Amino acid sequence: MSPFADSKDACVAALGEVALLEEIRSWLGDAMPPAPEGMGDDCAVLSRPAGNLFAADSLLYTRHFDDTTDPARAGAKLLLRNLSDIAAMGGEPRYAVMSAFLPPATSLAWLERFCRGLAGCARQYATALVGGDITESAEGPGFSLAITGQAERPLLRSTAQPGDYLYVTGSLGGSLRGHHLTFVPRLAEGRWLADRPDTRACIDLTDGLGKDLNALLREGLGAVLDTAAVPLSDAAREAATESGKPSFWHGCNDGEDYELLFTVDGTADPAAFERAWRGAFATPLMRIGKLRARGKGGPPVLDTAGRPVENLTGYTHLRA
Ligand SMILES: [Mg+2]
Repeated sequence: MSPFADSKDACVAALGEVALLEEIRSWLGDAMPPAPEGMGDDCAVLSRPAGNLFAADSLLYTRHFDDTTDPARAGAKLLLRNLSDIAAMGGEPRYAVMSAFLPPATSLAWLERFCRGLAGCARQYATALVGGDITESAEGPGFSLAITGQAERPLLRSTAQPGDYLYVTGSLGGSLRGHHLTFVPRLAEGRWLADRPDTRACIDLTDGLGKDLNALLREGLGAVLDTAAVPLSDAAREAATESGKPSFWHGCNDGEDYELLFTVDGTADPAAFERAWRGAFATPLMRIGKLRARGKGGPPVLDTAGRPVENLTGYTHLRA
């Protein structure tokens, strides 16, 4: 559905900001608690701890959704992207505020469906929508959502160690064929990992394994990647048929996988860890390598034969 209205009385400019905010409040329903916790003041007055996690993510017309996207799915995706970041920290979501950047011609019917999709997702994942902002914009529609969450033991990226086992959930690649709108944020898995002392470091895969793996590899730390074990999605194989590139390339570089990449203490028994996982989740899990000490200037990622793994770039924003 196009976010732009065909007629003047069907667009956001027909209402103006005050009436539009009332509409948005009604579309969000009980995903928006009553004031002063919900919309109505200059700040939300929160009734429960906002938590120790705070993050933001955005969603932009033509970049993250287009006229073929169900607006309800786009609204849900705005929150799901943020929930994936909360999951990567082993946290639970708490509160969110949304900023909307709206061209005057934005369709009211489109925005209603967007907001209802956002609200449905917020209810499903117990996230309270407590306010936000509307700005008239020449570009867009675009949205930014800031979220708080709570983690008893936040999982960090910097805690990976040489010898750690490297794991990934789900399957990778080809996300634009549908997964980017329908994925399930790995919140339960993240919380379970955070409760286990043998979990070391964690990140969610948004720009592709090829790029996001490097975020776990600080100076002096490298990885041996079992390239044959990297789980590729059917969509990655379909994308490969079209592009002529290997499906492994799509698995590493497409991005928007929203899976967890994490490490487990290398002195732990990986078979016991994997049994415990399978006892807790149906979510697929693959051990895809190990971390290793790396000399200065050495290639960060080697395959199991000791060769540098090529074409691990991932999605780079703002690339010329
Ligand atoms: Mg992230």
